[in-house]
Amino acid sequence: MLSEIYRRDQKRPQNQRFNAWIENLLLEIAEYDGKLREYGPFLRFENISDNPVLLSDNLLVKNIFICLHADSFFCEHHDSTGCAHVGFCYAISAV
Ligand SMILES: [Zn+2]
Repeated sequence: MLSEIYRRDQKRPQNQRFNAWIENLLLEIAEYDGKLREYGPFLRFENISDNPVLLSDNLLVKNIFICLHADSFFCEHHDSTGCAHVGFCYAISAV
């Protein structure tokens, strides 16, 4: 899944290697990290192999769909690519 995102990422420099790209991605994830640590225990994957990915959110008491759009995850609930749900998906898929 990550190599797919890498391949389709239009924003990265053309000659950027996969490893460098991953490092950038992990830095971005680190910014989510504080939020994730608080929020993480309340999130659980229902499935990860499908698109959209289905998360169950125990704070909102709701199932959240995360779509993989072109080069990034997209949270349908927040209409956002930068919420904790998206960070959670990056964090897990990078493991
Ligand atoms: Zn969200």
